[in-house]
This record gives sequence, structure tokens and C-alpha cells, in this order.
Amino acid sequence: MEKQFTVMAIGAHPDDPEIYCGGTLAKCAERGDKVFMAYVTDGTAGGDTKDRDKLAEIRKREGTAAAKVIGAEVIFMGLPDAELEYNLASRIKVIDAIRQAKPDLIITHAPYDQNCDHRITSQLVNDANLHASGHKIETTHTRTTIICPVYYMEPYQGIGFNPSVYVDISNTFEQKIKMFMEHKSQINYLETEEAKRTKSSNPFLDIVEITARFRGIQSLVKYAEAFQPLLIGQGVRTERLLP
Ligand SMILES: [Zn+2]
Repeated sequence: MEKQFTVMAIGAHPDDPEIYCGGTLAKCAERGDKVFMAYVTDGTAGGDTKDRDKLAEIRKREGTAAAKVIGAEVIFMGLPDAELEYNLASRIKVIDAIRQAKPDLIITHAPYDQNCDHRITSQLVNDANLHASGHKIETTHTRTTIICPVYYMEPYQGIGFNPSVYVDISNTFEQKIKMFMEHKSQINYLETEEAKRTKSSNPFLDIVEITARFRGIQSLVKYAEAFQPLLIGQGVRTERLLP
């Protein structure tokens, strides 16, 4: 039997883990891993409604439904979307989320992502990962025992991303799309925003599929997701952790 892990994907927004590593998370769930999907912001800057309280509730419901597709647990940190700041209060939220999940590995955004919430999340996760096991900062949950290996997921459109780890998601690609489609408040919104820019009729799903297919061609499978391990400090391992 394959070894099982606790896997935590930390995205800036509700729908990021689904878009950038949903196929891998589905595969982890299939392997018997415990999977956490954590959202740092409340997602209230993206959507058709301008009522942020209402949108926060909608996005919570959608994130919960997306996680349910693969039986993952969700953690909502509730920080303000598009206004995420790197500060101690934000770092404490992420430390506590990592302590709640106690993961064996973390997947998050790359620090050179175009989206500022994604970049700040990346930095918060790296620093929180270090402090989650330490006793300098107390939070609600008990300390972790390890500094986790971290994998960066592919930024939107993948420009400049140079991955070294690939996961075959051919048999979970449909689940990935199903997870993303649970974010109903985002489908029209993203398509309209992106369509203006890319002049494609269905730009968002195009990019998700083409990226998975492109990484699949590179790794000799139908669909793949690609990652870049952060090789730093005590987060380096010899064993393969991703499925
Ligand atoms: Zn995002």
C-alpha cells in the first residue's frame, strides 16, 4: 500500500488550490491522504456582487462544496481580498492554520506570481511554516513537529515557471474541473474579465486545460500538474511526497 500523507494546499483565494493543484489534491485524496484546502483571503474582491459580506458567505459555501468533491477539509482565514498585507497578524493566521492541519507537505503560490495576494501568501506561508513548529508565537492550535517541504504551484499562464516535479492528473482532471466549477460566483466574472483581455470565448477553462495538457506532453501523460519544490532549510526530503 502506498504511503499516505497529510497534504495542505494554501491559496490566496477561494478557487486557487482548485485551479493550480486540484488534480494533484484529488490524487492525494485517492491515495488516502488527509487533504486540507486553505484560503487566506475571503475572496470578496472578485465576483458579480459588490456586497462584500454577502460575497464572503457565497465564497465560503463554494469553497466548502469544492473541497467536498474530494473529501478535503477547508480552512478559511478570512483576510481581506486584494488588500492582503504581510504583517504579524496575517502571519499568525497562517501559522495557526498550518498548526491546525499539521501537514507533511504544503503546496502554495510561487513568490514571483503576478498577483500580489499570491505573492504575499507565498511569503506568509514560508515564514509561517518556520514559525509553526517554534515556540516564539503562541496560537490556538498546538505546535507542529516539522518544518514542511513546500511546493510551488504553477502561476496563471505558467510564464517563466520552471518545474521539476510533475504529477499525472489524467484520471483526476475531471474532478479538478468539477471542483473549480463549484465556484459559480467566479465563472462568469472570470470569463468576462479574461475574455476582454485574451479575446477567447472561454478563456479560463482554456488556460486550465491547455496548461494541464502542456505539462502532460512534457511528462508523457495526457494531463499533468507541475511543481517547483522549495529547496531551503529543513524542508528538503529524499522521498517522493506528491503522488
Ligand atoms: Zn488567486
